[in-house]
Order: sequence, then structure tokens, then C-alpha cells
Amino acid sequence: MARWLLNSCVLLLLAVSSLQARLILPQSLDVDGIQLETKGAEALHYASVSPRVDDNSEGNYRLPNTTAPEAYDVELWTNVHSGLREFNGTVKIDLQVLEETKEIRLHYRQTWNFTAEIISRDLAQPVVIPLTFTNESTREFLTFTPEDTALSFAANTNWTLTINYTGILRTDMGGFYYSSYTDDDGTVHYLATTQFESTNARHAFPCYDEPARRATFNITIHHDSSYTAVSNMPVNETKSSSGVTAFQTTPKMSTYLIAFIVSDFESTTGELNGLRQRVFSRKGKQDQQEWALWSGLVVEASLAGYFGVPFALPKLDQAGIPDFSAGAMENWGLATYREQYMWWNKENSTINLKTSISNIIGHEYAHMWFGDLVSVKWWTYLWLKEGFATLFSYESNDIAFPEWDTYQIYHVQDYNSALLNDALTSAVPMTHYVQTPSEISNRYNTFSYAKPASVLYMFKNAWSDKVFRSGLNKYLTKNQFTSCDEWDLFASFQEAANENNLVLPTSVDNIFSSWSHQAGYPLVTVTRNYDTGAITLKQERYLADKDSGNSATWYTPINFATASNPDYRNTSASHYLLNVTETTITDVQVSSDGWLLINKQQAFYIRTLYDEQNYLLLADVLNSEPWLIHHRNRAQLLYDAYIFVTTSRLSHRILFNLLAYLKNEDAYAPWSNANTILTVFDRYLRGDDSYYNFRTFVQRQIEPVFDKIGVNEIPGEHYLNNYLRIITVSLSCQVGYVDCYTRSEKKLSEYLFNGVAIEPTLRTQAYCAGLRSPSAEIYSRVKSDLLSSTDATDRSLFITSLGCSGKADQLAEFLSLSLDTANGLSYSERTSLLNSAYSRSEDGLTASLLFLETNWEAYAKLSETVKPLDLALRGIATYVVSEKQKTRLNALVEEVKSKEPSYLADNLETVIDSRIQANFDWLDVHRDPTFTWIEDHLAEKGSGAMTMPLATILISALALLLSHLF
Ligand SMILES: [Zn+2]
Repeated sequence: MARWLLNSCVLLLLAVSSLQARLILPQSLDVDGIQLETKGAEALHYASVSPRVDDNSEGNYRLPNTTAPEAYDVELWTNVHSGLREFNGTVKIDLQVLEETKEIRLHYRQTWNFTAEIISRDLAQPVVIPLTFTNESTREFLTFTPEDTALSFAANTNWTLTINYTGILRTDMGGFYYSSYTDDDGTVHYLATTQFESTNARHAFPCYDEPARRATFNITIHHDSSYTAVSNMPVNETKSSSGVTAFQTTPKMSTYLIAFIVSDFESTTGELNGLRQRVFSRKGKQDQQEWALWSGLVVEASLAGYFGVPFALPKLDQAGIPDFSAGAMENWGLATYREQYMWWNKENSTINLKTSISNIIGHEYAHMWFGDLVSVKWWTYLWLKEGFATLFSYESNDIAFPEWDTYQIYHVQDYNSALLNDALTSAVPMTHYVQTPSEISNRYNTFSYAKPASVLYMFKNAWSDKVFRSGLNKYLTKNQFTSCDEWDLFASFQEAANENNLVLPTSVDNIFSSWSHQAGYPLVTVTRNYDTGAITLKQERYLADKDSGNSATWYTPINFATASNPDYRNTSASHYLLNVTETTITDVQVSSDGWLLINKQQAFYIRTLYDEQNYLLLADVLNSEPWLIHHRNRAQLLYDAYIFVTTSRLSHRILFNLLAYLKNEDAYAPWSNANTILTVFDRYLRGDDSYYNFRTFVQRQIEPVFDKIGVNEIPGEHYLNNYLRIITVSLSCQVGYVDCYTRSEKKLSEYLFNGVAIEPTLRTQAYCAGLRSPSAEIYSRVKSDLLSSTDATDRSLFITSLGCSGKADQLAEFLSLSLDTANGLSYSERTSLLNSAYSRSEDGLTASLLFLETNWEAYAKLSETVKPLDLALRGIATYVVSEKQKTRLNALVEEVKSKEPSYLADNLETVIDSRIQANFDWLDVHRDPTFTWIEDHLAEKGSGAMTMPLATILISALALLLSHLF
């Protein structure tokens, strides 16, 4: 059963306030009722491939609608096997004239030597008509007109336009481009490949390069007989021969989804449910293709099953490209990837990479339906494909690998990212018009990916999976092989809602467009009346500046869990906030001493701010019976509270009351959010005399989960423990938990001296944690490994890890490596050592200051062009959080300035002052309430807060103890 939330008070406001003009009242609304019964209840970021200069004064960048393509024959000649970049092409376009015109306008880019002719397809004995052309580089228009200027093309006539041209394989990873790899023998292998989204198919062949101009394609490629070619479709064997690969005709499709690769790649093949899949990549890497192949097979089956619509093409390939600007690309039937986002093996790759590969495959494969089978009418609706691809990167994995609990990853990644970015005043609506290539490129951001994924996920839950899924099936079935806008999607959802008797407070058009047509999302403020049980809900746009004032509203689905009904299984909307700012409800049963939670499983795209009494009730249950709150709600209670504290909406008392339950927590998403929060506090508080109390508090929270999952992978454990352990090892050691130091050091020692392998997933943490307080033997071994290693990734790991030490003598020894120009470290490596130390701990910052106080002149001389000393001082300022540190840094700057001012940039002091001030401003707001709460809390728990001298003695004793353990 659903309810509209609308009270008489709000209706009164409606009459007098133009701010409420956007409220759309349903026709059947009974305005006498206070509450009205109804009848029922989505980086990879695609970088721009090359700079373009747009000139909006040129006006319309769109092609005219006078002609339309029906079929392309594209024929290309390349000798890329020998490293040659020139290519030749012929494109024949069957087109229809829709309105009488004297010209045919197409897109082109960086191609030349055009000759063109056109011939009628309506006449029995047509005459070839020679064409002339003009081109316009800004809008990339190529316009053909008959040489005989008296001729024009009549409406409803059909023609074949033939264009011959030449081009050069680009080197900027866009269009038809050039790539290469070097094999183990040092031999260079060349290849030609494509990346057409959004506006670069026009570089490979002149075309109608807009997503709605769908047509069929016959592609033929001439290449060296030692190479092979792959494209969207299987090879047409009868038309192919040695050195000539012709492909079968595609369905009607968008130009930006065409792809072809000419290479000497090797492949692995598999098949599931009659669909053949292959994975291609450079020679010698077949052993790393297995996971992408296996994952591709099950992910495709998961998606086809969910949508109830089979994959539309006869085969599906994936290819890893050595040079690739985007993360991956959904060319229909031939998805392309960066190699490192496709290769995986158990011995050397992390669990996180394994998950990421499947997630990316889920994204690209979801596009095979959303974007490829049904394309967008224009880039205004980019979210209509990217939002779905982002959502189904998780949903497909959740179906294929349910044991992963992948929506926890969604929560801490895309969901959090959308909420953060959409809170900025610079946020833009999901749907908004763009036209130039650069404007289109700039749309590949949160508002086309993570936000629409989150909004779609909200309605998947609010309307039920059954209605959502039915709507998608209708949308895909009805619109296959065509192009759509958002209203086509909404119509399918409406149809599905009607069929399933889901009665909504207003039309799907109104509900969904309130989310797609305005930036931002609701902050729902909950105020309970503990006497009457009434709950008042206010909605406004969430902006960091709470005083900014705004009247934005949404049709916001709402549901509740309560102390008496802590059931999270049904995530459908029980109520809706209509497009109004405030309403009160009285039909949710919650006792005055029981907690109330809004937004079950955190499925809806909102932030929720409760009154303090409710927060304390929630904190109580988290501390006593945390399982009564869903783990994703636990995660968001923490994160929202933190956000509200940083924007002065909530007290520190509430935030820390909530954080104090973490000792009972062992799920990934809550700890991931907690880690974000605690790491920020640690960064600012680490220079304080009371810091030890903060560390004690965090240690107490993290000890139980650290003790439970330790520093080694455990066979058969929950999949996300692999993610959780990275956090718990890192945070435990950051706050000085003795067991973390000792166990990590032992693990690293076992690896370094006894050859006991470290799990790839834990390698980074094992090194940093193992070097927090290491023996001289271990430290010097890693230092020696740094100087002897030829692997750039290893060297980077060793540098960041050696900076983790808390021992002054080791840090001094480490930092001195930056001055030794003969030790084999590169300049950029040598100048990264300081950052590795000062960003890690107060000890690291102190060691860095000491090092520069003694060696500033030698450090400045490391480069005469980029002022390394100046850069180091700026970096240190970012981490200065105490008066003592500030005094030392300023004194150092003064000394340099008085002796060798040329080592410093003019604005250094201004930048340093502003960075330090920003840190002090943070401390002004957060330090006292944080320590007051923590000290009270520690006293209450019987341990009491420590004074600094005792804390210092204990830390020193601990360091001494650890240094003797190995
Ligand atoms: Zn995508």
C-alpha cells in the first residue's frame, strides 16, 4: 500500500506560494483528506581523445534532416603491420532523401583527397552524377553537391553515394588509430584499432556521425595476410580471402559503436547458451585472458536472463588494447578494454582487480542492450545508457556472483560518489542539451554515470524489482534497433506499473523527471513528536552550505524500519513525499522509546537527518544489537552523520556516539565509510597533545575486527573480507595497534627472509604495516630492494612503504636517499621520498622538517628548473596541524628566503599560510568537541584519558619493545 504525503498545511501554502508551482496534483486527488490512500503500493570515464576547438558562434552543430543513411559499405586498406599509418578508404552510403535538397551533408575528420559520385537507386539505368564538395573543419561538416549546379535531389528518392578518401591512423587513441606493443624478445608489433565514441567514427569514414542515424554496415578490411581483422560481426567467409576480411552485415546501428581491429592478437574462445565469446590480446598473454572470458560468459547470461531479451548479435568478443584512453568501450559485439583492466591471474593479481574486471565487463555488456540495441536519440540523454550500464555493472555481478555482495561496493563507490558530487552547486541535471564535440565529451561524469545509476536503483527498489524489470523488458523489446529519449523509458515503466497494479501518486513522467531534470537530491529532515508518534518530514536540496536556502523538491519515495519492525526485505516505497517541502505522517507505528530509520537498505538517493533523540536511540541499538540495522544503513548513518557534522547540521556528540558501535562491526561498507571518516580526523589530530586519546578510541573500535580477520587471507571467508582486511590492517597500524605492528612485521619478515608469499591483494598493506616499526634488518632489506629493483611498480611500493616507519633514525636514513644522485633512483623517485614520510604520520612530518633544516640547500639543487625545495615545503604545509610544526616550517622558509630566495617561488608564503590556516580552521571547529567526547567516553569506560607525558612514555616503550622483537 502506498500513500501520498500531503497535509492540509502544505496545501494552504500551495495557494499562496509560487515556490510550490512545480507540484503536480494527480487528477483524483481528494484535497479534503490529510493523507490520501492510493490503490496500491546507475571512471569509466571516457577522456576526450583529442583537443578540439568549438565555436558555438557557428550555430548548429547538428546535421540537417534532409537525407538519412540506410546502409554503409565501408572498405579500408591498411599496411599497419609494417608500421605504416596511411590508409585508404571507400565508403558507399545508401541514403534516402527526405526533403528536396541540393546538398548532402556528412561528418568527416582529419581525412583528405575526397572524390565522390552519386547514383540513383530508383532508376533502372541510372547515370553516375559527379559531385563536388566543401568542408568545414570547425563543425567537421563535409558537404557534397552535384557538379551540375542545376541539379537537386528530390524528396523520397534513393541514392548510393560513393566517397574515396585517404587518412592517417591517429596517435591520440581516437578514431581509427595506431597502437603497438613490444614482445618479450624486444620485437615491436603494430596494430590498428578504433575508438569512435562519441564523435570519431567520422575519422575512419565520412558518415552521419550522430547516434540516432542508425544504418546497417558491411565492413571489409584489406591487410597483410599475416594479420587478422575482427569487427562487430562474424567474418563473411565467402567474401573473405587471404589479406581481405569481410564481415557480415550488421543490424541497423549507431556509427559510434562500430569497431575493427587489425592485429596479430591471439584469442581464447568459450561458449555459453549457444553464444560464442572470444577474448583477444597481444601475443603471449593467453594465460591472463581466462577470467575475462569466464566472467564474460556468465555476465552475459545474467543480463540476458534479467532483461528477458537475448543478446542481438551472433558473437561477442572482448579485446585488450595496448594503448587505450578510456577504461573500456562497448562496441556492439566487440568490447574493447585497456589491457590492465582485462588481464588477471591468481598468482599476481589482486582480488580487487578480479572484481573490477567483472564490474567493467558488466558495464560494457549492459551497454549491448542499453546503448547498442537501443541507442540514445542524442547525447542529451547520455545517462540513458551510462546510468543503466553503471547500475548493471553491479546487478549483473550480483546475479553472476551472489557471494560477492557487490552492492556493498556500489554503496561505497558510485552511491557515495554521486551523493558527494551532486551536492555541489556546480552539479548539472542528468538531462541537459549539448551539441559540440567538447560539450559532449564533458558529459562523461558523475551526472551521466553514478547519479542516474543511483536514481534507477532507487526506483528498482521503490517500485519493486518486478515492475522495474518488466519496464526494462518492454523498453528494450519495443524500441530495439531504434533510438530513444527518456520519455520512451518512462512510458515503458508506466505500462509496467499499470500492468502490475502499482499505483503511483502521479505519472512516472512526473516522478522520474523530477529527478532527471534538476540537479541535486533531497535532504530529508526527520522530526519526531515523541508524544503523539507523528513524524514530520522536510525536504530540500542537500547543499554543503546549509544556509544557502533552496526550494527544490522531488517526488521522493520513502519507507521505514522501526524498533518494532526491523525488516529490510521489502524495499518498496510505502509513502511518497510529493513535490512539497514539508509533510507530517501519523501512520507509522513507532513507540516513543523505539528507534526509527528511513530508507531501508539505503536504496533511495537521499540523505536523512534525524532529530538528536532518534540518533541516540539509533546509537543505542547499534551498540547493543547492530544486526537490527541493515549493514548499508549502518554505513550511511555514519557517513551522513559525518557530512552533517562537517556542515554544522549535527553535533560531534552524535557522530561519535554512532562511531562507538564500530567495535561490533565486521561488514565492509560500514568500515569503509568509517575509515574515510577516521582517516580525516587522524590527519588533523595527529599533531595534538591529546592525540593518544583519539588513537585509543579508534584502537578499541577496530581491535575486535582486526583480531577476527587478521593479516592473512582465510580460505572460504566472505569475499568482501578481502576488501575489509585492507582497511583494518591499514587503520589499525595507523593508530598504533600493537598486534597490527607485530603481526604485519612478522608477515613481511617471513616473505623477505623465508620466501613465504604475500597475497597480491595484501601486498601494499603488508609492506606499509610491516614497516611501521621495523627492525633494522627489515628496514635495510627493503631499502636495499628499492635500490636494486628494476621494476617501477615495486620501486614505487618500496618508496611509499619506507615512509611508513615511525623511527626517526630510519626515516633520516631513508630521506637521505633523495640527495644521492648516484643511487639509481630517478629524479621523480628521489623527490617523492619526502611526501611518503610527511603525509604518513607526525613522526614522518617531524623527520621531514629535520631533514630539510639540515639539507635544504642540497635538496634545492636537485633541479634548477622546477624548484624541488619549494614544492616540498608546500607539500609539508598541507600536513602542518600544530603551532610547533608551523613555527618550524616558517623558520625554515625564512632561512631559505634570507639566503637563497631563488629556490622559492614568489607566492610560497601565501600558499603555505593558506594551507596551514585551512587546517587550523578545521581544528577550531572539530578539535575540542572531539576530544571532549572521547575523553568523557574513555573515562566512562573506566580507562580514563591519558595525559601526554604518559602517552609519550608508553609509545616510546612500545617502540623499544618492537625494535627488539626481530
Ligand atoms: Zn559506459
